Amino acid sequence: MRQIVLNKNIIFKKCTSSQNSKIEALRSVIREMRVPFGRGDTVGIKLHWVERGNKNYLPPIYAKEIVAWLKSMGIKPFVFDTTVLYSGGRRDASQSIITARQHKYSEEYLDCPVKIGDGADGKEVVDLSAGYKHFTNVQVGAIIHQADGFVIFSHFKGHMETGFGASIKNISMGFASRAQKQRMHADAKPSLKKKKCIMCGECVRVCPVSAASMPEDEYPIYDLGKCVGCAQCIAMCHEMALKIIWDTDVEIFQEKLIETAAAVWRIIQKKSIVINALLNIVSDCDCLPGNHKVISPDKGFIGSYHPVSADAAAVEIVGSGIIDKTHRDIPWPRQFSYAREIGFE
Ligand code: SF4
Ligand code: SF4
Repeated sequence: MRQIVLNKNIIFKKCTSSQNSKIEALRSVIREMRVPFGRGDTVGIKLHWVERGNKNYLPPIYAKEIVAWLKSMGIKPFVFDTTVLYSGGRRDASQSIITARQHKYSEEYLDCPVKIGDGADGKEVVDLSAGYKHFTNVQVGAIIHQADGFVIFSHFKGHMETGFGASIKNISMGFASRAQKQRMHADAKPSLKKKKCIMCGECVRVCPVSAASMPEDEYPIYDLGKCVGCAQCIAMCHEMALKIIWDTDVEIFQEKLIETAAAVWRIIQKKSIVINALLNIVSDCDCLPGNHKVISPDKGFIGSYHPVSADAAAVEIVGSGIIDKTHRDIPWPRQFSYAREIGFE
């Protein structure tokens, strides 16, 4: 991976483990940022209110701070997320709003509207032209055309498919329609680690195409001929008993992620900023239930004007060796090299 020097386009404020220090670090970042929004603008804060049962998510106090900051400038903020493939607590809008409330990402607490970016039924979507080798077009939530600008607010942590997850992933998977999420995930299939499996049957229940089955008193089996690679069995297994096998080169998933993010960024870049929270840095994504292993102490907040720069800075601050060690088989640096190849930097 190319060495990224922390520069004037990256604002990094360290924090200690105290809550006051974390809030102060965020305030320092936003105080120093060039603001591309004007009084009266409507600004969407893209964040992730996480899957039910996840114990490592960012508390909503930071989003509340960003809302208050935008309002102090006469801007009208709202927060949003999109529906997901998994049949957990965010598969449709009504379930997702309940999950948001459970995690205190509510209108009352945040003091702004809480929206679903692809509509109540996941069908409010638009096609964006992409023109890349995997995707000619990408499909995203219609919210992309319903705000004057965006704050991409992301939690930096490890990820089973991308090594790490932060603003690139928040823009890519986070804006993507369910169909686009499926197109990106289509190469990931499950493989069972029997030692960890407790035969609970959850993977069978969540499979949308009946590719998973569990004969009585036996371990589950997966018909890979039927499997559409949605990865929801992998995401919903509380025991982490399913690992991914890739149908194609694992680098392709990284490239698809980048292509989708690049197509979205092309539309929103003029009036968007990026904030990464380097707190609760654990091994796995907020879309997985459970309490994941801490892989780094809290570091602070990064502000930036580009998601690739923000994520590269985050990896540099946390340490690329930690990401490598946590997700040995994932060629995550391909995200940065491919972003450079397609001019997304
Ligand atoms: S969800 Fe996980 S633990 Fe439960 S049966 Fe499936 S693989 Fe085993
Ligand atoms: S078996 Fe395949 S289709 Fe079924 S949930 Fe798992 S990844 Fe999705």
